[in-house]
Amino acid sequence: MFENSQESRTNLSELGEFGLIDHLTKNFSPRLKSTIKAIGDDAAVLDFENEQTLISTDLLVEGVHFDLSYTPLKHLGYKAVMVNLSDIYAMNGTATQITVSIAVSNRFPVEALEELYSGIHLASKIYNVDVVGGDTTSSTSGLFISVTALGVAEKDEVVYREGANPNDLLVLTGDLGAAYMGLQVLEREKEVFKANPNAQPDLDQYTYLIERQLKPEARKDIPPLLKKLEVKPTSMIDISDGLSSEIIHLCKSSKVGANLFEEKIPLDPAVISVCEEFQLDSTTIALSGGEDYELLFTISQNDYDKIKGNPHLTVIGHMTEEKEGMHLITRAAQKLPLIARGWNSMGNKED
Ligand code: ADP
Ligand code: MG
Repeated sequence: MFENSQESRTNLSELGEFGLIDHLTKNFSPRLKSTIKAIGDDAAVLDFENEQTLISTDLLVEGVHFDLSYTPLKHLGYKAVMVNLSDIYAMNGTATQITVSIAVSNRFPVEALEELYSGIHLASKIYNVDVVGGDTTSSTSGLFISVTALGVAEKDEVVYREGANPNDLLVLTGDLGAAYMGLQVLEREKEVFKANPNAQPDLDQYTYLIERQLKPEARKDIPPLLKKLEVKPTSMIDISDGLSSEIIHLCKSSKVGANLFEEKIPLDPAVISVCEEFQLDSTTIALSGGEDYELLFTISQNDYDKIKGNPHLTVIGHMTEEKEGMHLITRAAQKLPLIARGWNSMGNKED
């Protein structure tokens, strides 16, 4: 993960608002042809020629969506960008530009915002998006970050949540549950640290989980992979809240039902072992944990041969007629109704 270096403390008032914006954004030079004017005027100017424009926004609030006692600011900046890019990829698009708005209290020194922006900068470089604007203001308490992502797609390539048909296959990228279990590990370490600040945590065995929580990666690779495989999903969504609520979103938008097979849900071995340690059911975590930022989509059965055996893609179920409802078929062949629990009822997070 990232190195963290925060030694000196420069008060925000020393730079002033405009000085701060200049300071934080001085490394952001645009690279894309579609960016005509980036930071520095009253509005950015973009030119997407004939493609359709995708826009998505998220707001992250300290104490609700992140806890700075275990979230390094560089990771937070990176994650704030990922959360948004994931929504663009979930439309089968290419992410192109972002804007970043922050509200910050004076308890943060300039160096803290430099860390935040270094994560944003890294994400924009790796994911090839230009930072084209934003807003900077003060808050009386805590940190707020809002990122807006823009992207493009050819008109006939955009994939919506609606469009799934009965008998379509339900396909998932990657694996589930790691980000939520990473959060559980971090919360536990926070309590241990409160009780004994000298304790030296040994988190090696949790590296994958903690990375998935603190430094998620959006599935930039999937829209081009689908194009290469010549598969256009009939519907798609990203997994921000948990598998069951995302399946329910697809079903409601598409007016279909679904059967999800418990034995097909991909779990990393680290998730299985940490669930045993915390005495949690790994299927429940996959269904209701969140923040995995994988993509969930449906394809026609005719396309099955094109995706079969691809290591990034797992068929986890199929769609049905709407009247059949939405169910989890357990390993014991029980048929349980799918219910959306998402972050909220799991205690410590809200949308
Ligand atoms: P205005 O008063 O017109 O809103 P600002 O002084 O807020 O202009 O912003 C000046 C320029 O800096 C604009 O291009 C704006 O998009 C950009 N900007 C402001 N804050 C941020 C930020 N936190 N991150 C990136 N760009 C920013
Ligand atoms: Mg402004």
